[in-house]
Amino acid sequence: MLEPDARAADLGDPCADDDLARPERDLPPVVDGGVGDDVRPRVEVADRGPERCIPCFVAVDVIDRMVEMPESVEVVPARGDAELVHAVERYVQRNPESKRLHEARAQFMPGGNTRSVLHVEPFPLTIVRAEGAQIWDADGHEYLDFLGEFTAGLYGHSNPVILDAIRAALDDGIVLGAPNRYELTLAEALCSRFPSIDLVRFCNSGTEANVMAISLARAVTGRSKILVFDGAYHGGVLYFRHGESPLNYPAPFVIAEYNDASAAHLVDEDTAAVLVEPMLGSGGVIPGDPAFLRAMRDAASERGALLIFDEVMTSRLAWGGLQEVLGITPDLTTLGKYIGGGLAFGAFGGRRDLMERFDPSRPDALQHAGTFNNAVLTMAAGAAGLTKVLTRDAIARLNALGDRLRERLPDEAHATGYGSMVGLHVEDDERASRVHLGMLERGYSYARRGFVALSLPLTQDDVDGFADALAAELS
Ligand code: PMP
Repeated sequence: MLEPDARAADLGDPCADDDLARPERDLPPVVDGGVGDDVRPRVEVADRGPERCIPCFVAVDVIDRMVEMPESVEVVPARGDAELVHAVERYVQRNPESKRLHEARAQFMPGGNTRSVLHVEPFPLTIVRAEGAQIWDADGHEYLDFLGEFTAGLYGHSNPVILDAIRAALDDGIVLGAPNRYELTLAEALCSRFPSIDLVRFCNSGTEANVMAISLARAVTGRSKILVFDGAYHGGVLYFRHGESPLNYPAPFVIAEYNDASAAHLVDEDTAAVLVEPMLGSGGVIPGDPAFLRAMRDAASERGALLIFDEVMTSRLAWGGLQEVLGITPDLTTLGKYIGGGLAFGAFGGRRDLMERFDPSRPDALQHAGTFNNAVLTMAAGAAGLTKVLTRDAIARLNALGDRLRERLPDEAHATGYGSMVGLHVEDDERASRVHLGMLERGYSYARRGFVALSLPLTQDDVDGFADALAAELS
């Protein structure tokens, strides 16, 4: 079992009841994500006042509507940080082709963008090629990829087994309009890997998987409310930070504080499901407190609600996902990202009696349509990845690299996370932006908001190089 992150262990949660806050198992204990107005969550160590313990509010009452998507971080210096001004100038000078492409895109796409998370000021780099753990931008610069496509790039950029599987599938046709031979392998691999998943269904994204899971929960329970947590990101229409995105799926969400076990009392006779990430991913890579997650399990069981674990990101952290590490069995699990081998993917699955409701031969069958639910290339790539590439040992090795990275990073990085997912929380937005630009110049790519996801081709030397470079940037 992996050792908890030592720095994270020092940061208690003053809001949590002592007994509840104590980790039952060796997951990293509570770290305060301190998700604030700033889109980069901060780690607040000592100063968290009681007002932050307000456990919840009902979504319909929220007036503080979200206008920012999760990872959009302004780099334009607001307070005249001279170093940042210079860093931005150098960035603009170094990347004329990325700038040109951004401006050309902006003529046809709002802000030159079709995926909010990828926008950074003054413009994002356009990446033109990738191989292993390396990527190249449109101006010919090479980077080591520590973003790992926000966890979807677990296998790296050119795993030969996955590429072969895609090529072989291509040759036999890709839009067959029928069940294909790859989906069985992928479904079987998922059901054997996650003991809580008796039956599984595929879709095209993690967002869809979560929408389907909560819709299923509402249909089978006949209840309406969904308990979710502040700072959680479950998809483009399931985004909760200081309220809800105005684009959210219209369900009566009740939003509680993440890692606050007292939120269990909010599960009542009208709660269809509790939807929770066992570790906040986009919300700062903040491990869930096992006692909090256990309290959600117990409350859901006692009051007839379903527990849905969103393991879209975290399933990569253990063979059976974080649910295996925690020893908690959800009723439904949602998956996505790398499981499609790098192609568009989502899945949801769980208890047989729940999932059987989709059996089309039943007179009362629920419909779940989707032209690309069993997309041939995705099924083939995903099946090859899970059956021929990913092993328990590969997961353990990558998690150990993540632990090593957290250990070697300077304290000022306030590194959080678990295994191969790392959150960096450099205080002060402008400093964090300057550090990010500096890291790009040194040849290391990660998300400006401090998100790092390791991929299988990365080596110990790569990780050490990243840690040394970050230390130099912060010094
Ligand atoms: N759940 C979690 C925990 C995620 O991190 C994400 C994506 N960042 C999603 C759901 C949505 O997945 P997708 O982008 O495939 O819709």
